[in-house]
Amino acid sequence: MSDESAKMMPAKRDKPKINLIGRTEAQLQDFFAGIGEKPFRARQILQWIHQRNATRFDEMSDLSKALRNQLDQVAIIALPEVISEQKSSDGTIKWLFESGAGQAVETVFIPELGRGTLCISSQVGCALDCAFCATGAQGFNRNLNVDEIVGQVTHANRHLPRRPTGDPAISNVVFMGMGEPLANYRNVVLALDILLSDYAYGLSKRRITVSTSGIVPQIEKLGDACNVSLAVSLHAPSDELRDKLVPINRMHPIADLLEACWRYAAKRANRFITFEYVMLRDINDSVEHADELAALLKDRPAKVNLIPFNPFIGNEYERSRPETIRNFQKRLRHHGLVSTTRKTRGDDIDAACGQLAGKVRDKVRVRLSEKKQRTATA
Ligand code: SAH
Ligand code: SF4
Repeated sequence: MSDESAKMMPAKRDKPKINLIGRTEAQLQDFFAGIGEKPFRARQILQWIHQRNATRFDEMSDLSKALRNQLDQVAIIALPEVISEQKSSDGTIKWLFESGAGQAVETVFIPELGRGTLCISSQVGCALDCAFCATGAQGFNRNLNVDEIVGQVTHANRHLPRRPTGDPAISNVVFMGMGEPLANYRNVVLALDILLSDYAYGLSKRRITVSTSGIVPQIEKLGDACNVSLAVSLHAPSDELRDKLVPINRMHPIADLLEACWRYAAKRANRFITFEYVMLRDINDSVEHADELAALLKDRPAKVNLIPFNPFIGNEYERSRPETIRNFQKRLRHHGLVSTTRKTRGDDIDAACGQLAGKVRDKVRVRLSEKKQRTATA
């Protein structure tokens, strides 16, 4: 199509443009088939967006000018809007992304020796209401769409300098930010497709972890669909206690959850499931709890990650004492279980697990009122 004929095309004002950030290779192939282009264009576009950091179609030098113009008419490359970026003294970076209606989600980058982990969100808020979680306390607002899930990775990847080895800063992605990824199953699986694609981020299944509070049917489905690493928020060794801490347990009790976990693990030879266990003082942190937990997980492909509770305003729980956490871990090891304790990172910027939503609303409110003032004075 010449520039001249493009001008004569009827205006496409009514049809919203398609954001290509969250499109998988298969979806892009369909899209290109629809405009009479070859399937290999899908890979070119993935590479331009996710590896070559293009923001405009006119940068895409290996596409004809006519195709670039055509893409301009129907598609965009739009990243989520950043509200704020904060850097912790320990190198952790936290971004707050606008997600409409005065809401926001957070993404956290955690640099460590030899790797960089990006912790991303899958929902605005969460419906599952775990007793110790700030996101749960916020309630559920909506699912993030695929553009918004992948957009967190795209933004961070474009922003972070490569490592001294020349490798990208992000080596691992964990779905441990706001929301329950398996309650937004469809969009999370599409996002995983893009994170795994060699033409986009090329991350291996081992380096992507989906963390779930235990939606059993979705665990089964995920195992068949894409078998990435799985982390399960167990937090209690008995149904009686877990019913209180993780209410989804009333629907999917521990025995069913663990059965689904072992089936998931069996689909991937020699791969462990990580069980997250938040350490709440005098609630779930006794040696007897450790014994019970070990009895559930012993001789299984399981490792335990103890997470010191991160307090937030309006919540009554307290973090277990360091000595209690050490004893709990020792006890698990005594039973032969692999167990680690998560280091709390980004404390000074509220980037720790479960705190993400803490001050989000206030920040969004401040930012929106600043924006209003700027418009008023402009
Ligand atoms: N919804 C998913 C993933 C997001 S939460 C899930 O629940 O697994 C990621 C991890 O942070 C979960 O293990 C969750 O239980 C834990 N978490 C939530 N609130 C926390 C808090 N206040 N302190 C420590 N860990 C917390
Ligand atoms: Fe939702 Fe996970 Fe928080 Fe539970 S811990 S409320 S599942 S985000």
